[in-house]
Amino acid sequence: VISLGMPKRVVETTCAYCGVGCSFRAEVTDSRDQETGETRTEVVRMMPLKAGKANEGHSCVKGRFAYGYTDHADRQMSPMVRDTIEDEWRVVSWEEAIQRVADGFRAIQDRHGVGSIGGISSSRCTNEEVYVVQKMVRAAFGNNNVDTCARVCHSPTGYGLNQTFGTSAGTQDFASVEDTDVVLLIGANPTDAHPVFASRMKQRLREGAQIIVADPRQIDLVRTPHVEASAHLPLRPGSNVAFVNAMAHTIVTEGLHDKGFLEERCEDVEAYLDFIRLPENSPEATAEATGLEPEQVRAAARLYADARNGSIYYGLGVTEHSQGSTMVMGMANLAMVTGNIGRPGVGVNPLRGQNNVQGSCDMGSFPHELPGYRHISLPDVRSIFEDLWGVTLDPEPGLRIPNMFDAAIGGSFKGLFVHGEDIAQSDPNLQHVRAALTSMEMVVVQDLFLNETARYAHVFLPGSSFLEKDGTFTNAERRLGRVRPVMPSRVGKDEWKVVCEIATAMGYPMGYASASEIMDEIAATTPTFAGVSFARLDAEGSMQWPVNDKAPQGTPTMHVDAFVRGKGKLIPTVFVPTTETTNRRFPLILTTGRILSQYNVGAQTRRTANSSWHPEDVLEVHPADAEMRGIRTGDRVELASRVGATTLTALVSERMQPGVVYTTFHHPVTGANVVTTENSDWATNCPEYKVTAVQVGVANAR
Ligand code: SF4
Repeated sequence: VISLGMPKRVVETTCAYCGVGCSFRAEVTDSRDQETGETRTEVVRMMPLKAGKANEGHSCVKGRFAYGYTDHADRQMSPMVRDTIEDEWRVVSWEEAIQRVADGFRAIQDRHGVGSIGGISSSRCTNEEVYVVQKMVRAAFGNNNVDTCARVCHSPTGYGLNQTFGTSAGTQDFASVEDTDVVLLIGANPTDAHPVFASRMKQRLREGAQIIVADPRQIDLVRTPHVEASAHLPLRPGSNVAFVNAMAHTIVTEGLHDKGFLEERCEDVEAYLDFIRLPENSPEATAEATGLEPEQVRAAARLYADARNGSIYYGLGVTEHSQGSTMVMGMANLAMVTGNIGRPGVGVNPLRGQNNVQGSCDMGSFPHELPGYRHISLPDVRSIFEDLWGVTLDPEPGLRIPNMFDAAIGGSFKGLFVHGEDIAQSDPNLQHVRAALTSMEMVVVQDLFLNETARYAHVFLPGSSFLEKDGTFTNAERRLGRVRPVMPSRVGKDEWKVVCEIATAMGYPMGYASASEIMDEIAATTPTFAGVSFARLDAEGSMQWPVNDKAPQGTPTMHVDAFVRGKGKLIPTVFVPTTETTNRRFPLILTTGRILSQYNVGAQTRRTANSSWHPEDVLEVHPADAEMRGIRTGDRVELASRVGATTLTALVSERMQPGVVYTTFHHPVTGANVVTTENSDWATNCPEYKVTAVQVGVANAR
C-alpha cells in the first residue's frame, strides 16, 4: 500500500451511538493498493466539533473510538443465503439475495396472506433509511406491520407527551439546562448513558443549580466530584407513578401550584386537581409502595415547585415499566402544575438511548402512524402518501413487535425483515423471541455483523457503518444533524438502495437518486420537516424540528405560547402496581441499565478498543443481600426469574438498595434478557425491563 500523498481529508459527521448526537470531524487518509489499484480510506481519529451545537467540542470515550468496528474482522461484506437455519451460509450476489428476499416474501403472502410479513426498522440508522423501510412495508408489503426498536425503549414517551402536550418529543434543547435552577432527574443515568450532556448538566450544578435524583440505584450524579445532589430518592422499582403523584399531591395541597398557568394554558384542570388531592396520593399513603420517607418526598416537591426554573430529565427508568406511559403523563402533569413549560430552563426532557430513536419515531416507523405522528386511520393524511406513492394504504394499524412474535408463534406471521437491530439479544423473554423467529419461514437480517438475530435468518444482507452513510440523525433535542460519508459503502451498496431494490423486486418500483432526495420527500409530506433539506443543513448547520413556515430556523423550545395541541391536557394518573411481584422463590427485583464504555447490545463497542474496559456484564448486589447468600465480589452467580436463568459475575455494591439487583445487557453471553419478562406498558407494549422478580445464588465460588 502506498500513500497517495493527498492532504488528510476531514469529514464532518454525527456520532452513531447515543441520543446526544455529538458532531465530529473524522480525519481520514486515503491510500492505494499497488496490486489492485483500489483506494482505501482509513479513519485516523475522530475529533469533536467545536461548532457542534449538541456537544460544543466535547465527546465521550465511545464517540472518540466509534470508528473502531468499521474494519473489524467480524464484519460481513457479502450477501448470504441458506435454506434452513441449520444450513451453512452461502455467499451470493446482491442481485440473487434481493430476488430471494422478494420471491420469499411474495410466496409467504401468497400462502398466508398480505399481513403475514412485516419489518423492523433501526434506531441506529438514518432518517432516510427508516423512511424507506416504512415505505417498503406500506407500499410493497401492502400492510402496516412496521415497528421500530423505540417500541422497547421510548414508545411511552411518544404516547405520553402526545396525549398531554400534543407532540411526541422533548420540550427543550440541551442548552436549556444552562438556565435551570433545579433538575429533577428520574430513571436516567446520564454520566454513563449520555456522557456529554451529563457534563453540561454537571457544569450547571457546579454553578449552583440543584439536583434531585430519583433512582433505585445510587448513580454518579448523587455524589460526584463537586456535585452533591440535594436529595437522592431511592424509590422501589415499579413505584414511579406513586412517586410522581406524591410529588404533585404535595405541590397542590400546599398551594405551590401555578394557578395562572393552569388557568391560561391547560384543560381538565379541576378534575386533575381533585384527583391529585386524594389522600391515596399523599407521600404518606404512597410510602409503602415507593419505600421513600414522606418528608423526603415533600422536601423534593417543594424544591422543584419553588424553583424559578425547574426541569425534568428522564430516561428508560421511566418508560420501561408497565405504567411507562402513565409516568410520562405524570411528569408532564408535574411540569404543567408548576408552570415549568415553554421557556429555557424548564420542560420535560427524555434522554433518548440510541442515536436516532427520535428520528425513527418521527419517520412513521410505527404500525399506527405515518411520518410526523399522524394516525394511519386519517383519510386526509393517508391521501398525501397515497397520491405520492401511487398505492392504496391499509387504514388499519399493523402489528407491533411483540404482536409479531405472538402471531408468529400462533402461526399467522411468517416473514420478517430486521434492519440493524438485534432483537434476539435486546428484546425481553428471549426464549419467546427465539421461538417466534424459529417458527418463521423467512427471516431477513441486514446488519454489519452476524448478530444473535442472524442465527435465525435465512438471508443476510451486509450493512454499512455510519462512516459510509449519507443522511441525517435526529437527537434527543429534536436536532437533525448531517451524517456524511467518510468512505464509500464497504459492502458496495447503500442500505436505502437495498431496501428500494427489495420493494422494486416485489413489484413496487421504488428509487431515489440520492439520500437527499429522500429527505426532500419527507419534507414534502410532513409539515414538521417542511423546511429541512440537505442543502440547508449543510449551509446552516443542524436544526431542531419543527422547521417550517412558522419556525423557519427551527424550534429550540416547544410550547412557548400554546401547546402543540392547543391547551395542555392534565390527565389523572392512577397508580397501578405491576403484576411482577416478589415472592419466597423470587425475592429480589432485578433492574437493568447501561455502562459508559458500552453501547446498547454492544455489537459495535464490543468490537472497538472500548471492549477491554467492560468485558462482561456484572450483577450488582447490595452487601446485605450478598451476605445472606454468601456472595462475594467476583463470584459466579446464577440469576433466575420466572422465565429463565443466566450466570454472571457478582459485584457487591453499596450503590444498590437492599432487595434490588442490577445488571447491564451489553454482552450476549450473559444475556440479561433471558430473565426479563414480557410484562409491558399498557399503552405501548414497551417491555417492563426495569422490574423482574429474581433469585440470585452462588453458581460456583472462586
Ligand atoms: Fe456524544 Fe453520545 Fe457519541 Fe458520546 S456516545 S460522543 S455522548 S453522541
